[in-house]
Amino acid sequence: MKRVSILGATGSIGCQTIELIEAAPERFEVVALTGGRNVALLAEQAKRLRPGLAVTCHDDCRAELTERLLGTGIEVASGDAAVAEAARMQADWVMSAIVGAAGLVPGLAAIRQGATLALANKETMVAAGPLVLEAARAHGATLLPVDSEHSAVFQALVGEDRAAVERVILTASGGAFRDWPLERLATATPEQAATHPNWSMGQRITIDSASMFNKALEVIEARELFGLAPDQVEVVIHPESLIHALVGFNDGALMAHMGAPDMRHAIGYALNWPERRDLPVARLDLAATGSMTFRAPDEARYPALRQARRVMEEGGLAGAAFNAAKEAALDAFLDRRIGFLQMAQVVEQVLDTMSRAGALRVDIPGLDAVLGADAEARERAARISRTDL
Ligand code: NDP
Ligand code: MG
Repeated sequence: MKRVSILGATGSIGCQTIELIEAAPERFEVVALTGGRNVALLAEQAKRLRPGLAVTCHDDCRAELTERLLGTGIEVASGDAAVAEAARMQADWVMSAIVGAAGLVPGLAAIRQGATLALANKETMVAAGPLVLEAARAHGATLLPVDSEHSAVFQALVGEDRAAVERVILTASGGAFRDWPLERLATATPEQAATHPNWSMGQRITIDSASMFNKALEVIEARELFGLAPDQVEVVIHPESLIHALVGFNDGALMAHMGAPDMRHAIGYALNWPERRDLPVARLDLAATGSMTFRAPDEARYPALRQARRVMEEGGLAGAAFNAAKEAALDAFLDRRIGFLQMAQVVEQVLDTMSRAGALRVDIPGLDAVLGADAEARERAARISRTDL
């Protein structure tokens, strides 16, 4: 029996993880589940999976969760510290599927008790890659990427000599607006940005796909996870989303990972690793697919990609600040305080200001420094979004 916990159980990744676990109940024992506002779903999941502990990150949701789980014997807790406590419980495998930088501290807690951490939460590596890798090394924890592109790279690297890797190519669908003329993007609404042509995902990552902030985060995530130099991570637009990533070797060979655009593939790979098992995902029919297309991303259209390069060159706390500014800019866009294209402007201003002030420089970023840079960037981005754009 594998003892598993799911952080962010009520989200898109969390629900798909639970679906796969429920398909093989004899192989898994659920230790803890955490969620946020969707208490009805969290309680329903807990009643089915019988974890020892169910946690909502919101204290004002605790009473309702307690009420719903009355008489079940399942312990209930609330708040950020309780989410981290849930991550610290003795589990062999922990799914990190909280959205945003809020996933960092619970993910680190799981790593520090030596668990295998299935990392959907890309913000963890963007904000604190070196810190996370060092913690995993020190505590004997294993990191398994769940982001589809990174799972693809991980799979393409099995049995390969890391020193022979020349480059990694991440594919990008181009998101909701890939066929919109540039001048129309300024008018894009949150509703329009929150529909994805190929993937079904949470609202925030879907909008980040339309702006390419998602791919920008993934470039940094790939660099950190696989120990690459900034210029070894490339992005290509591939509207069909059938190839998820490619690894290029020093003999010119490219190993591509293909599959239907279905996150259960990458989640299932991490859940079953190091084995491969049957998964309920569609099998590709290449003859029916016909053709696949690729094109270079236009950085004028996607300033986030340029910003990712800058963040990697700058290092230190730039990743933490970049991600936090992006999260705050996305909040402002969702509240209709700023337009779609202004998200990148807000992020740029925050990076410029913090960089000029030397606030991103640090030799070895510790957790306090990361959280400090996150808070400052978030605050600055919120302020800019209210005033001077
Ligand atoms: P969702 O928004 O669907 O789910 C997020 C989960 O986190 C929910 O359980 C939510 O609770 C919980 N949550 C929200 N805020 C907090 C907080 N402050 N503290 C603790 N828990 C919180 O997100 P996704 O499942 O789409 O994405 C999860 C992560 O996986 C993200 O980092 C995303 O980038 C990454 N990812 C997602 C992919 C996808 O296909 N969805 C693909 C690749 C990566 P509630 O809903 O109950 O409020
Ligand atoms: Mg991805």
